[in-house]
Amino acid sequence: MKKYDVIIIGAGAAGLMAAGAAAQAGAHVALFEKMQQTGRKIGISGKGRCNLSNSAELPEFIQHFGKNGKFLRQAFSRFFSKELVELVESLGADVTLERGGRFFPTSGKALDIVEALNFWIKGTGVEVYRSAPVRKILVSDERIYGVKIADGEELSCSRVVIATGGLSYPKTGSTGDGFSFSEELGHTVVPPRPALVPLTSKDSFIPEISGLDLRNVQAQLLVDNKKVASHFGEISFTTFGVAGPIGIGLSGQAIDALHKKQSVQIHIDLKPALDYQKLDARLIRDLTTNYKDTIKTILRGLLPQKLIALCLHDCQIAPQTAAGTFPAAMRKKIVHWLKNFTVTINGHRSYDEAIITAGGVSLKEVSPKTMGSKKITGLYFAGEVLDLNADTGGYNLQAAFSTGWLAGKSAASFAKSDHS
Ligand SMILES: Cc1cc2nc3c(=O)[nH]c(=O)nc-3n(C[C@H](O)[C@H](O)[C@H](O)COP(=O)(O)OP(=O)(O)OC[C@H]3O[C@@H](n4cnc5c(N)ncnc54)[C@H](O)[C@@H]3O)c2cc1C
Repeated sequence: MKKYDVIIIGAGAAGLMAAGAAAQAGAHVALFEKMQQTGRKIGISGKGRCNLSNSAELPEFIQHFGKNGKFLRQAFSRFFSKELVELVESLGADVTLERGGRFFPTSGKALDIVEALNFWIKGTGVEVYRSAPVRKILVSDERIYGVKIADGEELSCSRVVIATGGLSYPKTGSTGDGFSFSEELGHTVVPPRPALVPLTSKDSFIPEISGLDLRNVQAQLLVDNKKVASHFGEISFTTFGVAGPIGIGLSGQAIDALHKKQSVQIHIDLKPALDYQKLDARLIRDLTTNYKDTIKTILRGLLPQKLIALCLHDCQIAPQTAAGTFPAAMRKKIVHWLKNFTVTINGHRSYDEAIITAGGVSLKEVSPKTMGSKKITGLYFAGEVLDLNADTGGYNLQAAFSTGWLAGKSAASFAKSDHS
């Protein structure tokens, strides 16, 4: 029977980091990846550019994970953005800081990060098994003693790190195996659900405005008519609903509300730089200056083409109404519409399009100091398999790298104590 100190299951961001960290600490490490290639999800992250971390300071960084963020404090204190950037740069992948504190590889290629990490783990002596799914974690008397792989072979080890990711983008290999392993071993899994995912709407106008991208708008999420979140930036309309940074950014709270059978709407202020009065003054000026035009023509200066017909339809104004005789009441209606363009949300897209999985192994049963299980001796967790998820900006990958690093180091030091 092959024997290792530490076996890592899953070669994504968390598993690659855990493997390198454990091997660097002197452990004999095997890394099992069920896909043919390691780091498939890193390779497609950040639209193929990999936003690997963020320059936010620790207190702000943690806030991006909501109430579970404090669990990450110790992992981040040991291995944070500075250490990550230093590591990948030492491996030849230079990193650049971009708008919003986002770190990207200077080459603009996510695959350079994967290559750097593969190079690193090779140098540290990790034995990598590709196309090699782990089927079972072997435990006796609440202690790890090995894993069973696909062909039935058993391998011996006293430490296992589960770094199998969540359920999002299953084509990259993340199909929820870690949730089943954890439940089989007595861990609680907070029900997984897609997050950072496009939202769907049955509003009749959605197909008409599909393909539209709105920039510099202010969007509010309304749950049962109460404002619960506000985002500024870009929203995109698709054939089924809303996407883009605002659409996916609001998805977590929207999905939670939909599960509670609450009503969900997105109110979009299309002209956030102008308050009602200024916007009304602007419209008066446009109508007066161009008094021979129709309202349809005048709105071209204020709205993208795809929204003009919708605006006039909603406000019940004939497109050919002349600017010169435009009634004040109609003008007020248009101003109100421009400040409150509303989309009703009725659902969300599947895991196939979800950037991250919310839910996962309950943090109550994992030590934040070591990432070790509080139930099974020798079991560790890292990355998205844990009940952690943040918004976009490089936070999720940093969490995977940091928890991976800590799990790898902890597993290695406990494994060494087995030998002494
Ligand atoms: C399209 C997209 C873009 C993203 N962009 C960004 C971004 O720019 N910045 C950011 O911070 N985050 C981004 N994310 C999120 C981020 O990529 C993930 O949170 C992170 O990669 C999770 O890492 P992980 O190692 O925990 O899991 P994964 O990357 O999912 O890795 C898990 C690995 O385990 C393997 N595995 C599963 N089961 C088994 C098994 N039984 N045996 C062996 N191997 C197994 C899988 O094949 C997989 O390789 C993005 C996500 C997506 C989908």
